[in-house]
Amino acid sequence: MHKLDKTDLRILIALLADSRTSYAALARETNLTIPSIKTRIQKYIDSGLIEKFTIIIDEHMIMKGTSMTFLLKVKPSDLDTIAKEIYISPFIANMTITSGHYNLVIVTHPMSDKDKLEFIKHVNTLPGESVIELVSSINLETFMCRPIELPKTPINLLIRCDYCHREFSGEVFSKAILGRKRYFCSPICQEKYEERAKKYIRGELFQHPDEEKVRKEAKS
Ligand SMILES: [Zn+2]
Repeated sequence: MHKLDKTDLRILIALLADSRTSYAALARETNLTIPSIKTRIQKYIDSGLIEKFTIIIDEHMIMKGTSMTFLLKVKPSDLDTIAKEIYISPFIANMTITSGHYNLVIVTHPMSDKDKLEFIKHVNTLPGESVIELVSSINLETFMCRPIELPKTPINLLIRCDYCHREFSGEVFSKAILGRKRYFCSPICQEKYEERAKKYIRGELFQHPDEEKVRKEAKS
């Protein structure tokens, strides 16, 4: 799947509003049959477009306190390590690496005053004096995390090649390999991935081809 037509967009808009919308309701809305709705949704999952079906909980019914925003200026060379270190905290709702004066922006779930002090202490005592500056603000109003607004007209999806990890749109080469459909930017990438998969199955390769993160870009 590399294109979203108007029907796909209608299905996705309905699922964004309520991921429990039934196949029957989606079929009625789009004039498709239930099996074809199922096939389409499976395609969104297989292609990675739908990452998961989840729920939104009113976190204030579970946790006391206020949500916070932290702006951090971190030594660029330590950014990755520090981000991972901080992400372990159960309070993190959203973490973004940004450009500019502050390079790490964190929004938290509700925190008690004690949690806030402990969190700030933890961040300030991270090894290597990596955190240069830390600014915190209390989030005054509970905000909603709004899902992305989908376009009204058909679009080409940006797809990541399962072999070279390059993002591309346009012609897609796909094949079911190692239990799911894989997408490639070129027949060369597909061939190379299949080679790795065969080696993996034969036990000549210990790492699953998907876990081989660093890979030279295949030339097409
Ligand atoms: Zn590729």
